[in-house]
Amino acid sequence: MLKTIKKKNSAPYTCKICKLSYKDKRWADKCEAWCRNSKSCNLEITKHAIKSRNAMKI
Ligand SMILES: [Zn+2]
Repeated sequence: MLKTIKKKNSAPYTCKICKLSYKDKRWADKCEAWCRNSKSCNLEITKHAIKSRNAMKI
């Protein structure tokens, strides 16, 4: 018996709108909902993103 489970390790959950990746689906969902409604970034959400390509130093 073979069971194939598709699982991406690098970017499990991605917000379709801002393309940020989250390891937790809940944050990806929150991010997507936020992006869809407000069309801006919520730091409280995006700080949970995996990718830090646009890392900002404050
Ligand atoms: Zn987003």
